[in-house]
Parts: sequence; C-alpha cells; structure tokens
Amino acid sequence: MKLDGKSAIVTGAASGIGREIALTFGRKGAKVAIADLNLAAAEEAAAAISALGTDAMGVAMDVANEEQVNAGVDAVAAKWGGVDILVSNAGIQIVNPIVDYTLADWKKMLAIHLDGAFLTTRACMRHMYSSGRGGTIIYIGSVHSKEASALKCAYVTAKHGLEGLAKVVAKEGAKHNVRSNLIAPGYVRTPLVDKQIPEQARELGISEEDVIKNVMLKDTVDGQFTTVEDVAQAVLFCATFPSNALTGQSLVVSHGWFMQ
Ligand code: NAD
Repeated sequence: MKLDGKSAIVTGAASGIGREIALTFGRKGAKVAIADLNLAAAEEAAAAISALGTDAMGVAMDVANEEQVNAGVDAVAAKWGGVDILVSNAGIQIVNPIVDYTLADWKKMLAIHLDGAFLTTRACMRHMYSSGRGGTIIYIGSVHSKEASALKCAYVTAKHGLEGLAKVVAKEGAKHNVRSNLIAPGYVRTPLVDKQIPEQARELGISEEDVIKNVMLKDTVDGQFTTVEDVAQAVLFCATFPSNALTGQSLVVSHGWFMQ
C-alpha cells in the first residue's frame, strides 16, 4: 500500500474533510492521528480507521495552543517513531461584513487558521528533520487562498496566508527532504458550510437556495459541490508524490470555480 507504515497527523479530522483524509490515509496503510478539539469524535474516527486494520489514535488538541500542539505531536512521534505526514486542516468560519467584524472574531480566526498551521508545522518539522526521513506537509487552503468573497475578511486573509507558509516550508524544508503543498477546495457540504448557508442568506437578504446556486456554486463549471472524497484524493496525490518536483504548489479542487 502506498502509505504503508507512514505516520500521519491530520488536524481537525474528527469531522468533514479532515475525517475523510484520515480514512483515506488509513485505507492506504498509514498510521493516523486525529488531532481535534473534539476528543470523543476524534476517538470515534480513530476507531473507524483501526477497523481497517491499521493503527490510529485520537489526540485532544487545540491547534492554536502551543503546549497542546507540542505535547500532541511529540506523543504521536514517540508512539510511532516520528511523523511523516502532517495535514493542517483544522478550521472554522465566521462570516460578517468588515464593518461589523469584531476584533475578537478576527483574532480567533487567525489563531486557528494561521497560528494553528504554524505551530503544527513547526512541531512536525522538528521531528521530520531529526528522524532524517523528511516528510510532507499539506495545508488545506481554499479557493479563498486565491479569490475573495464578501463577508469573509478573516478567512480570506488567513487562507491567502497559508499559501505563503507552504512556500516557505518548501524552501526551508528541501534540504531535509520535507515537501509542502496546499490543496484549495471549492465548497464542500460539511458542517462548516451547512452553518454558513442560513447565515449568508440572512446577511445577503436572499433565500438559502439562492445562496447555494447564485453565491456558492455560481462560478463552477457544473453547479456541483466539491466532495470530501475529491479533496482526500488530491491530498493523497500530494502525500504520495515521489519527489521534490511537486513542492511549494497549490492545487485547486473546485469544479472550475477558480482556474489558475
Ligand atoms: P468541519 O467543521 O466539518 O470540521 C472542522 C474540524 O476542525 C472539526 O472537527 C472541529 O472540531 C475542528 N477544529 C476546529 N477548531 C479547532 C482547533 N482550534 N483545534 C483543533 N481542531 C479544531 O469543517 P470542514 O469543512 O471539514 O473544514 C476543514 C478545513 O477545510 C478547514 O480548514 C476549512 O477552512 C477548509 N475548507 C472547507 C471548505 C468547505 O467548503 N467545507 C472549503 C475549502 C476549505
């Protein structure tokens, strides 16, 4: 199997996109740590992966908390002899016009998306360097790493920032055989998006159907949502790519919503 024996950490993997990435890695033989705020759901996902015949564990982690990140990553590395793959996926959404966006919400968004990506990257890179094996880091960005939408100032800022981090990791990591790429999904029906539909309908004064059709999927080539499986396959492609030819890149998976 493509990832046999590799050890992977996926943040925010108790739900949605991260959960599917973790399951996909498990099906390919990787040992998978599900790092999430929600430990009960992380342990349930780990049990589903263990049932596939590989090793999995749930790790209680707020990705914005330095101590929790370092302790969680160190525990995974100690258990499985290192960390080969990090998927920085944990994220939330808070929508509001800029003029109504509170500083507390802005800081919370940047802490989870950017501090979280930085802290997990740093902790994992230390193990990737010291093991001598290198590794691969994949950021779950968004079409909002490339494009903007109204009401999403903090999200768009953070997702653009992740592209910069992915490029720096690619440059610094190369001599240690650490690669880094970003996957940029379009809209995927997960709890994160389901929560936004009524919020956007309220803010924009349109129906929920119109939010889906005329806001979320308006610029896709076929009016379709991207699926968790689509995103997981793109992540797997990056995780198993055999050389440094693919590093510092962004791969957009969005039914043509954004074309590079
Ligand atoms: P989701 O709400 O289904 O899952 C997010 C998970 O992250 C949850 O399990 C939650 O407990 C966890 N989490 C939240 N804050 C955390 C923290 N501080 N520390 C650790 N875990 C935390 O969301 P999703 O749609 O699967 O989103 C996953 C990622 O994909 C996010 O980064 C999101 O921005 C990105 N993304 C989502 C879409 C989409 O349309 N759903 C599109 C593009 C990008």
